[in-house]
Amino acid sequence: MNIHEYQAKALFEKFGVPVPKGAPAKTPEDFITALTELPDGPTMVKSQIHAGGRGKGTFTDGFKGGVKFCKTKHDAKEIAGKMLGNTLVTAQTGPAGRKVQTVYFTVASDIKKEYYLAILLDRTTSRPVIVASTEGGVEIEKVAHETPDKITKIFVDPAYGLADFQVRELIFQLGLTGAEAKNAGKLIRNLYTMFWETDAAMVEVNPLITTPTGEVLALDAKVSFDDNALFRHPDIVALRDLNEEDSKEIEASKYSLNYIALDGNIACLVNGAGLAMSTMDIIKHFGGTPANFLDVGGGATKEQVIAAFKIILGDPNVKGILVNIFGGIMDCNVIATGIVAAVKEVGLQLPLVVRLEGNNVAAGKATLAASGLKLVSGDTMADAAQKIVKLVA
Ligand code: GDP
Ligand code: MG
Repeated sequence: MNIHEYQAKALFEKFGVPVPKGAPAKTPEDFITALTELPDGPTMVKSQIHAGGRGKGTFTDGFKGGVKFCKTKHDAKEIAGKMLGNTLVTAQTGPAGRKVQTVYFTVASDIKKEYYLAILLDRTTSRPVIVASTEGGVEIEKVAHETPDKITKIFVDPAYGLADFQVRELIFQLGLTGAEAKNAGKLIRNLYTMFWETDAAMVEVNPLITTPTGEVLALDAKVSFDDNALFRHPDIVALRDLNEEDSKEIEASKYSLNYIALDGNIACLVNGAGLAMSTMDIIKHFGGTPANFLDVGGGATKEQVIAAFKIILGDPNVKGILVNIFGGIMDCNVIATGIVAAVKEVGLQLPLVVRLEGNNVAAGKATLAASGLKLVSGDTMADAAQKIVKLVA
């Protein structure tokens, strides 16, 4: 789960990670209230969307920059009016962009130098890794590609936690001394504590800055959490912004369906994650492209199957459907009844290929046959995949 910059910075403050003072606003009426919380003088206006690269982004109406420096609070209010409700396209949003539904005002900081700092989980070593670089403010992927020696990685043993010598190593690599070193050390420690205690998957500060007065501040904040640990953090779940999520995925999560929207045109309805993956593979193998990953689970109910089918049919990209069920625990007839009920409710204009195998398969096939539903059956996975690829071609 991702959160917005302003929410991430509120968490930073809670854990003692210094950030510039700021205030969010969701309506033009809120602009004035938010701005009264900030001192007079240079103010930043920052579009809040779950994507980076905002500063270099462009709005669909041609207005440039999703992060803007303003000399006065008056200017900030004007600029916020141009951003709110507007759609921002950045390198990370895709061409459709994201509608800005919150703007964040912050005190504009004087930047002495920009750095990069992130903590994430390294899957190879199964450890948190702290990534730091003197090349902040720019795309870290570019730095990693062109000048990999300018990136420092410190792996933290989760049993011991972050050691003092590791913090000193990071500070040395960033070239910080004196008050800056002391402040950065404290910031890194506190950021690590936050990463650890909130079960974050990634915390990225780009840029981390030093100021002419020796302060070290997180100027930007991108945080995502491990979904599997969210049950431990109701306060974090409360920060979820459904506006930023795929509506089909939200609907699927209401019915405990494992669904991920993809770009292709062949929808898949499968039981079991492994079978769902191989179904996607075999569609690709025969020249098609899957529209989604969907695992209805081993013990899906008729209601879940109906919901799953409706979600699939609600995707305008879908040109055909492949149902691939192996009934181990799953009763094939539950799937068949669910499909028939869903089609009765929402209709079906698209080609449908069904491959059923396993537990109670005869009853399942009988249900489908008796329904008069126009479908093609597949005998094997390969047969079913070839048939649906041909039908959508
Ligand atoms: P991003 O483009 O989505 O990564 O948004 P950032 O919050 O990182 O802002 C983009 C850039 O704007 C930063 O890399 C900074 O160079 C600049 N910027 C952001 N906040 C301030 C600020 O308070 N003062 C100054 N001088 N520049 C800022
Ligand atoms: Mg940034």
